Order: sequence, then structure tokens, then C-alpha cells
Amino acid sequence: MKAVRIHEFGGPEVLRYEEVPDPRPRQNQLLIRVKACGINHLDIWVRKGIPGVSLPHIPGSDAAGEIVEVGEYVSGFRPGQRVLLAPMSFCNHCEKCAAGLQNQCPQFSVLGNAVEGVDCELLAVQPASVIPIPDSLDFNQAASVPLVFLTAWHMLVGRAGIRPGQTVLVLGANSGVGIAALQIAKLFQTTVIATAGDERKMQRARELGAEHVINHYQQKISVEVRKLTGRAGVDVVFEHVGAATWEESIKSLKPAGTLVTCGATTGPAAAIDLRFLYSRQFSLLGSYMGTMGELHEVLKHVFAGKLKPVVDRSFPLGEIQAAHEYMESSQMFGKIMLQP
Ligand SMILES: [Zn+2]
Repeated sequence: MKAVRIHEFGGPEVLRYEEVPDPRPRQNQLLIRVKACGINHLDIWVRKGIPGVSLPHIPGSDAAGEIVEVGEYVSGFRPGQRVLLAPMSFCNHCEKCAAGLQNQCPQFSVLGNAVEGVDCELLAVQPASVIPIPDSLDFNQAASVPLVFLTAWHMLVGRAGIRPGQTVLVLGANSGVGIAALQIAKLFQTTVIATAGDERKMQRARELGAEHVINHYQQKISVEVRKLTGRAGVDVVFEHVGAATWEESIKSLKPAGTLVTCGATTGPAAAIDLRFLYSRQFSLLGSYMGTMGELHEVLKHVFAGKLKPVVDRSFPLGEIQAAHEYMESSQMFGKIMLQP
């Protein structure tokens, strides 16, 4: 089969589209023909080089496709079924997995990080990771959903426990995870203040339901938040940007507010004045991916049309270098997809 592989770390030029051996599914696995996969920021980090990646390596976390083979010991699936994949790998038998807390499993990994990814034509996978999709979603839409919607759901619902009536600040509402967060926050009837980098993206964020949108390049986020909330601040800040916005995020919180973060796209080094942390009684929460239960939960809303996949554009899998360059140029509103 054809696959994207890296043999060394570096820029987009290290991404090779090449022939690799077909996977050989075991009797307790399914063989999936990949019809669409999606790019995430993780793919860029993996390509540049992060610990735990052994070379050569296939990147990619999100995929949807068709079942071509059902292992002898697998029931409940049939060839031809349209499915998406959970974007993660876990042992499925440890104490944490048994409790449904897969993202705390000692062997937990995002697909395409410490384990091989999905930017290829065929995948052999365990049935627990395979979820049928309705006809209302095409493969591109289906493959655009798993990582970002699961991440945003775990952050807002699992960790921050958002409630109707609260005000939520969603940073970078043009990114995949920001778009998911904005919609989930609206599903829970909160008031959303979003940030985006230009007028076109700001307008798209309004169309997805944001009551207010701040231009994070031209305006100071915390000053605008104070104005928009009658000086109160927000209940929840949805962070994934990191160093560039951290201070503004903290300043935007109301007393006893919650900041939840899943990333550090602009850098990992951030400071906090401990006097503010304790006197204002902030909660600072870390979040990483989510559980299988949460994935099924958020997908129910996607399949019902209550949460909408937003696809920016799609590239042939062979044009993986151009797709990574496009992602790094930050022009997109929504997910960048790949067609094997
Ligand atoms: Zn486990």
C-alpha cells in the first residue's frame, strides 16, 4: 500500500509518499480501507521530532473509511461498513481502561505519536476503536471529527464541567479544536467569546454561534473580555495556544474561574503569579484527549447534526508536503483533510 512516512525529522520535505508492506490483520482485528484522513497540529510536532517517535514512522491521528475484512474472532461488523476510528491507542485491559479512563492508561498514545498513524491506505485495528458512521456524513467530514471534538469535549465537559448560563472564552476559534469548543460551548447554552486572527475568520466564528469575537492580533484579549462582561471576566477559558496568550487568558478569568488547557502551540513556558492563583481561587486544569465513553457521547451529537464538522479543504494524500505547508501558514478555518 501507499503511505506517508518520515525517515528523519524536519520540515515538510521529510514527508515521503511511498510504498510500504500491507498490514496483516490478526483474527481479532478489522482491516479498514482509509477513505479520508485529517491533519492535526500533532502531525507537525511529530514531523519536527518529539520524544517517543521511532523512525521510519507513519503520522496521522484521524481516519474514516470502509471495512474490507472482518477477523474470525470479531462480531458486530461487516465488510463494506462505513466507519471512523478512535484517534488513540490503549491496552484495553488495565485498571484504567477497565474503568473507562483510556486516556490514563499507561500504554495510552494518540495514533501517529508513539504508535504508527493513519496517513496510509489500509489499517489493521482492534474493534473497540471502530465506530460506524451514518450516511449523512461523508468520509472527509467523519475523519475531521474525532481528535478535535474528543479533545474539546473532555476539556469543557469532562474537566471544566461547563453549565448553561456560564461565559466561555474560546481562544483560536479558527482552529479545529477551537471550532469544536465553540460549538460544544453553545450546545451547553453558554455565552461564547471567541478569538480569531482576521475578519473572515471572525465572521465564521460568529456564524458558528459566538456572541462576541475578539481579533487577537489587534485587540488585547483581557481588556475586551472585561468590556464584554461588565468587568466580571469569564467562567471558563479554553486554552490551547500557550505562551502567546497565557497571561491574557489568566487575566480574563473571573474569581473562582477555570482555565483548561490541552496544548501550547506557541510555546510551553508560562508563568503565574501565585498570589492571583490563591486569592482569586482559580482552577487551572490540564487535559489530554479523552475517554472512549466521551468519544461515543460527542459523536452522538455530531451524528444528530447538533455539532457540525467544519472542513477547510482537502489534498490528495500524495500532496502531504503541500498540506503541511498550508497548515503551518495558518490560513485555514476548519480541518485540512487528505484523500488516499
Ligand atoms: Zn490500559
